[in-house]
Amino acid sequence: MRKNARLTHLDANRTPAGKVPVEERDVEIRQTICAICNPFSHCGVDAHVKDGAIIKVEGTKSHPHSEGTLCAKGAASREYIYHKERLRTPLLRKGERGSDEFEPISWDEALDRIEDRLQKIKRESGPESVAFYVGYTKWMRPFVKRLAHSFGSPNYCTESSTCYTATKVANLLNYGYFGPPNLAKSKCLLVWSKNPFYSDTSAVRRLLDARERGLKIIEVGPLITPLTAHADIHLRIRPGTSGALAHGMAHVIIEEELFDVDFVENWTLGFEEYRAYVEGFSPAVTEEITGVPAELIEQAARFYATTKPAALMTSASPTVHHTNGVQNHRALTALIGLTGNFDREGGNYVVPPGWLYVENGLITRQSQYEQSRPWPEMAPRITEQKYPVWSRFIPETQAMELPFQIQNPDPYPIRAVVAFGMNYRMWPGSDFFYESMKKLDFMVNMDLFMTDTCRLADIVLPACTSFERSELKFYTEDYVVWTTPVIRPLWESRSDADIIFDLAKRIAPEDDLMQKGYEANVDWILEPTGLKVEKLKKYPAGYAVKNIEKPPYQKYEKSGFPTPSGKMEFASTIMEEANYDPLPTFQEPKLSPRSTPEVAKDFPLILTTGARLPMYIHSRTFRLSWTRGLRPDPMLDINPKDAGERGISQGDWVALSTPRNSIKVKANLTEVVPPGVINIFHGYSEPEVNTLFEPDYLDPVSGFPGFKSLLCEVKKTEVEKRLL
Ligand code: SF4
Repeated sequence: MRKNARLTHLDANRTPAGKVPVEERDVEIRQTICAICNPFSHCGVDAHVKDGAIIKVEGTKSHPHSEGTLCAKGAASREYIYHKERLRTPLLRKGERGSDEFEPISWDEALDRIEDRLQKIKRESGPESVAFYVGYTKWMRPFVKRLAHSFGSPNYCTESSTCYTATKVANLLNYGYFGPPNLAKSKCLLVWSKNPFYSDTSAVRRLLDARERGLKIIEVGPLITPLTAHADIHLRIRPGTSGALAHGMAHVIIEEELFDVDFVENWTLGFEEYRAYVEGFSPAVTEEITGVPAELIEQAARFYATTKPAALMTSASPTVHHTNGVQNHRALTALIGLTGNFDREGGNYVVPPGWLYVENGLITRQSQYEQSRPWPEMAPRITEQKYPVWSRFIPETQAMELPFQIQNPDPYPIRAVVAFGMNYRMWPGSDFFYESMKKLDFMVNMDLFMTDTCRLADIVLPACTSFERSELKFYTEDYVVWTTPVIRPLWESRSDADIIFDLAKRIAPEDDLMQKGYEANVDWILEPTGLKVEKLKKYPAGYAVKNIEKPPYQKYEKSGFPTPSGKMEFASTIMEEANYDPLPTFQEPKLSPRSTPEVAKDFPLILTTGARLPMYIHSRTFRLSWTRGLRPDPMLDINPKDAGERGISQGDWVALSTPRNSIKVKANLTEVVPPGVINIFHGYSEPEVNTLFEPDYLDPVSGFPGFKSLLCEVKKTEVEKRLL
């Protein structure tokens, strides 16, 4: 047994009080990163290590990205690392699938069994019948994708089937490439359904600094957020109507001739059709659809179009978690081109992708690395025909189709799933996916904890945290880190990378590069940058890369847009070819007061879900008492007006019902939600909010679930015993 395997979860509560003179206490400060949330953050951490155990964590003050800050999740790292529910050994299922009956097995036995089962299924049904999936965290994705393709399966899919990729598709349809807001140079920021205070905390300080410099902020979104206090204008839309609001703003901008005539004339396709279409979205009509007062729409449109340069900031999901998601998002990003703010200083600035979603100007070979086998050498992905546009831009399988494909094996079956950090509750109609997974012949899940999804697996493998492994990390501040483990992997846990490269020896022996191991593969990816793992190891706190050449602004003037027409497309050639509306037309959500008034008679409120609280991300930090204690009970947010009409008081148990299902939660009366809207934050497993959605409540272009606009009703119910 390893030395630190004697540690138990109780050690997490032995924090020394106050600052300690570290030399005297034999405490070493080792630097690493927190990787609990998304790759844009990954804050620097000083881990105080004594006798092989982390006794305290603090933010690294010299870290150029996080500058010493940690959010509530990162501050709870010790409880996360030493949690009593950490998986300790590989486990083999003994009982029925979904039961909690497992027995410990050795790593060799686990990997041998996985090899045997996967090779047998490959022989019988082809490699495509094995799906590979990565949930959270994301750092190992390129290696898993390569493993899948080298095994021969095109069916590599990720949690990004419900996150970000639909916005990417929308952006690529309009522009062919895209970029984030160039905040440092911007004078006006249109923040569309993003709450960085909860979901992107490291961006907040920069945003507030810019605000102090005079940045104007227009916020769009139904909820009042911490950003609202800093916004000049807040447009409180009805959920699911972003597209209509964007068209209403475009209507004003065009009618008042505030658009960039030169850009529109020289660099766009389909402007006249677009102009004719948005003529139908007068401020009065747009008010009727969105609920935003006409004068505010006019004011925001003028403000955004005339305060130059202006940038658009969106989030990964809120605008696309609707059954009209991609077209919603296309509509709002069309405003960037219309106002001439695309790829301009202070606008939305395009920087090519670097490593794991972080763009800092360094070019790697990530995409070449991932796709080890060309598509024509594999069977078609299961979702290529259903989502042709999404599949054209996203080199993955749309995971929302997995439950259907498992149930209906046409054109071929999915018999096995090899998963890293899968959470079945992420799917709409999560109970349907749960039942589908029971039909699998074989399933493996790697995770830190014994989750309910692990209970569905045949073999469960224990992964370790970012504190126990090495990984490559890029930051936008021209900074690269190869992290050094600050403690050894606890118990028998291992780095996902070690597991992946061990699996590669067994199931992808012809992939010569993968046989060379993790660090050699990272070196291969890094080759165009001139960096190497050995060099980065000499800088455990991170390496500042000098003289990264940043791409120029307005690149399209030299080489056009990477779209079929070479222009920004108001009317998309690709959408037209695929028989979708080429214009970013507005459709009501599948279920809404306007599209289905008959359903709205019984379910008159709008349900929006999927937003996160600052101390939680997905299901990752719910089991920590340090974070769970901040809001222990699952609650829905309801406006006091709606609550009063239903006789509901603060803390009452209520039944939240949709046409599909009903769950019980506590009521939180708050003006954060407008009248007519119910908000429920994501991640609580009790109750399971995604069972309120039909499994096919999806956007037809991207397959994204419509988590943020559904009809519902709330009624007071009998007292529920505390669910926790
Ligand atoms: S969870 Fe918090 S501390 Fe950790 S990387 Fe994300 S923002 Fe930083």
